[in-house]
Amino acid sequence: MKQWIDKLRKEQHLSKEEYRELLTFFDKETLAYANKQAQEVSLSQFGNRIYIRGLIEISNYCRNNCYYCGIRKGNPLAVRYRLSSEEIMECCAQGYALGFRTFVLQGGEDPAMTDEKTEQLVATIRKNYPDCAITLSLGEKSYEAYERLFKAGANRYLLRHETYDFAHYAQLHPKELSGEHRIQCLRNLKAIGYQTGTGMMVGSPGQTIDHLIADLCFIEEFRPEMIGMGPFIPHHDTPFADSPAGSVDLTLLLLSIFRLMHPKALIPATTALATLGNDGRIRGILAGANVVMPNLSPSTTRQKYELYNNKASLGAEAAEGLVLLQQQLDTIGYQISFDRGDFID
Ligand code: SF4
Repeated sequence: MKQWIDKLRKEQHLSKEEYRELLTFFDKETLAYANKQAQEVSLSQFGNRIYIRGLIEISNYCRNNCYYCGIRKGNPLAVRYRLSSEEIMECCAQGYALGFRTFVLQGGEDPAMTDEKTEQLVATIRKNYPDCAITLSLGEKSYEAYERLFKAGANRYLLRHETYDFAHYAQLHPKELSGEHRIQCLRNLKAIGYQTGTGMMVGSPGQTIDHLIADLCFIEEFRPEMIGMGPFIPHHDTPFADSPAGSVDLTLLLLSIFRLMHPKALIPATTALATLGNDGRIRGILAGANVVMPNLSPSTTRQKYELYNNKASLGAEAAEGLVLLQQQLDTIGYQISFDRGDFID
């Protein structure tokens, strides 16, 4: 198995059959070897520095009904909130004072957050924080809307493709949403000039090794600047409430594969990894991740942005926990980087 990891490190590419063998037959030893190779590549690209992004969850209203998501519109038990522009600017101010130089505005597809309002918000942040990167994670929009937000000052956009197999996509989403449209959105974002992030849930209901191979091949071709992945975690008020969570080990193997495939990509140790285990974030960094996204949202709304059960948002997950985060990083010889941390080819 190690020969495929060595080959991937050398050539940044494997055949479908080689990926299949790796994903199907890996064991603890193979995983440790892949993680070590990926960590070496990450260290050679970024040193022992981990970029931080300040996450602001601006609204948990959503027009969509994705079957796995706790804030889907069909969940009457979700307690809804929407931050005002003033509250969002306050989060930015606090984040800036703490040293953050990237703000990530994330939210459901909230009909009340019109393109005009979002454009104004982005322009205000851009004017007040000219030295910061603005990342949006606000779902599917028209080409024109993405372009307006880019011109208003947004630099990066996160839109996970979730699964590249369109039949599998249809198992996870209602019929109004399609895998084809999702991928078109991603291509539009890249064409406009965004640093674009994508990725998938690992272990989502119905996912097979073939689906994951399709995801790997898509990401190999698409070359996103950012790759975000976490294990699937069920939410108690969704149709997938009883589905088992995804495997942390498989997530860590895929993370390392992506690091070896795209040495310069920005890859977060995600909140979902941190949620499934206290050491999830550290394991992510040791597997090749180089980004963490602490939460800058007001503490009163954090618990309401519950995409899946028991989402981590306190402790080292919170912005005030930067000291705690640095203490965790100290144990593995890493440091927080307060740089803006753009993708550099
Ligand atoms: S996954 Fe995103 S688009 Fe789907 S219901 Fe949840 S917030 Fe809305």
